[in-house]
Amino acid sequence: MKRIAIVGGGISGLSAAFALEEYRRAGAVEYVLFESSPRLGGVLVTEYVDGCLVEAGPDSFLTEKPWATDLCREVGVGDQFIGSNDADRKTYILVKGRLIVIPDGLMFMVPTKILPTVLSPLFSARTKLRMAREWFHPPRKADADESVATLVERHYGSEMVDRLADPLLSGVYGGEAGQLSVRSVLPRFADMEARHGSLGRAMLAARRQMAQARKGPAPPLFTSLKDGMQQMVDAVVSRLYGSALQPGTPVQSIQQQARGWVVSAGYASDQFDAVIVATPAQAAAELVRISSADLASELGGIQYTSSITVNLGYGQSVRSSLPPGFGFLVPRSEGRRMLAATFVHNKFPHRAPPDRALLRCFIGGARNEHALQSSDEEILRIVRNELRQIIGLTADPQFTRIYRWKGAMAQYGVGHQERLQRIELLLQQLPGLALAGNGYRGIGVPDCIRSGKDAAKKALTSVGLAEVKPEEVAS
Ligand SMILES: Cc1cc2nc3c(=O)[nH]c(=O)nc-3n(C[C@H](O)[C@H](O)[C@H](O)COP(=O)(O)OP(=O)(O)OC[C@H]3O[C@@H](n4cnc5c(N)ncnc54)[C@H](O)[C@@H]3O)c2cc1C
Repeated sequence: MKRIAIVGGGISGLSAAFALEEYRRAGAVEYVLFESSPRLGGVLVTEYVDGCLVEAGPDSFLTEKPWATDLCREVGVGDQFIGSNDADRKTYILVKGRLIVIPDGLMFMVPTKILPTVLSPLFSARTKLRMAREWFHPPRKADADESVATLVERHYGSEMVDRLADPLLSGVYGGEAGQLSVRSVLPRFADMEARHGSLGRAMLAARRQMAQARKGPAPPLFTSLKDGMQQMVDAVVSRLYGSALQPGTPVQSIQQQARGWVVSAGYASDQFDAVIVATPAQAAAELVRISSADLASELGGIQYTSSITVNLGYGQSVRSSLPPGFGFLVPRSEGRRMLAATFVHNKFPHRAPPDRALLRCFIGGARNEHALQSSDEEILRIVRNELRQIIGLTADPQFTRIYRWKGAMAQYGVGHQERLQRIELLLQQLPGLALAGNGYRGIGVPDCIRSGKDAAKKALTSVGLAEVKPEEVAS
C-alpha cells in the first residue's frame, strides 16, 4: 500500500486528505496528516459568543469560485449555505474622516455606470475626467508583470489607487497595491487591458455577457455556512479516517531518500512514498531545506503579512445607530491603524440576534506588523478610539474577541508567476513532493481547497494511482 504524508491541517491540507480518503477506503493508500497545533482547520475558526456567531478568520468565500461549495456538498453540508445579504450591500470608504459610499456600478475599481460615479463625492473632478478618458485607453503591448498600483494609476490616476485599489486589496491580502502583482492578484484586469485597452469597456461587455448567460437572479456575492466556517472544517474532518489525523504534531523536516520521503516530527521519523506540504510557504521553505536549498529559497521569497481581527458585540441601540451596509474600508492616507470594519449583522443577518450589533474590525497588514505584539487592551483601545472617531461609536461593547494571525496572508509580489514557474521546475527534481496552500495560486478559501485537491492528485500520480479510480482498486 502506498503511503502519503500531508503536512498542515488547514483547509488546504484537509481538502487534500479528503481527496485521498476514497483511495484509503479502497485499500490503495494510507495517509497521515500532521498538524502542529492541537486543532485542525488552520485559520478557519468559529465561536458562538452571547448568541452571536463570531468568525476568527475568514467569514465566507466568493460564490463564483466553485471549489468550496463543491467540497461542502461532497461532505454533506450543501444544505447549510447562507448567502451575503446583498440587498444591503453598501460599502463605505473613509475619505478625510468622512464615510462615503462606494457608488453603484463600480466593479472592484472599474466604473460601469456613469451617473452614480459622476455624482459620487468619492472622487475628485480630475479622477472623474480620467475615468471618462479611460474609455479610449489603448491596449497594453508589454506583457511583463507590474504592480496593481501601476496598472490602476495608468488607467485612473493615483487617487483611485489610494481610495479604492489599496483599501480593497488590504481587505483581502493585507497587502499594498504598490507591491502586489497584477498578474497574480488581478489577472483578469491584465487580460482585459491587453485585449480591450479600456477596463471600463471590457468590464461592461463582460457584465452584459454574464447577465445574458445567467438564468434567474444573481447569486449572492459571498457564501458561508449557517454554523460558520468551522462547520466546513468539522464536516470534512468527520469524513476522514480519525487515526490518520495527528494534531499537535509539528513536522521539523521532510527529506528525500532513494525511495520516497522521510518525515520527521518530534522524536519520530516515518517513511512515505509522497508528501503534500500544505503549510504557509514560509513554513514549507523550512521543511524542504534539507532536500533542496533552491526550493527553500524560492518558497521563503513568498512574503506574508499578519492580521488581527477584533470582534465587538453591542446591543440594540448601537445597531439602530450604525449606518446601513456591510461596513467600511480605510485608505492608508487616512493615517489610521484600522484597515476595515464589517457590520456583520448586516452582511450575514443570521449571525447576530435582531437586537444585537456585531462588528468585526481588521488591523495589521504590510505596514502594521508590530500590532501583533500589542496587548489585547492596547488593540481594543486603538479600535474603540477609531470607531469613536469614524462612526461616533462610544458605547461599551457587551463582549470582545481578538484573534491574531501571524504570517497568515500571502503577498503575491510582482514576478510571482515567474517564481511559480521556477518552483515547478525545482519540483520536477523532487518526485513525490506536492505543495498546497495560500502561497501559490490564490489566497481565498476556494483556491486553497482547489490547491489541496490538485496536490492530492499530483501525489497520487507520483505513486501511479492518478489514472486508477478508487472503485477499480477495490475490485
Ligand atoms: C483574518 C483572515 C481573514 C480571511 N478572510 C477570508 C475570507 O473572508 N474569505 C476567503 O476566501 N479567504 C479569507 N482568508 C484567507 C483564507 O482563509 C486562507 O488563505 C486559507 O484558509 C488558508 O488555508 P491553508 O490551509 O492554506 O493555511 P492555514 O489555515 O494557515 O493552515 C496551515 C496549517 O499548517 C500548519 N503548519 C504550519 N507549519 C507546520 C508544520 N511544520 N508541521 C505541521 N503543521 C504545520 C499550521 O498550524 C496551520 O494549521 C482570510 C484569512 C485570514 C487570516
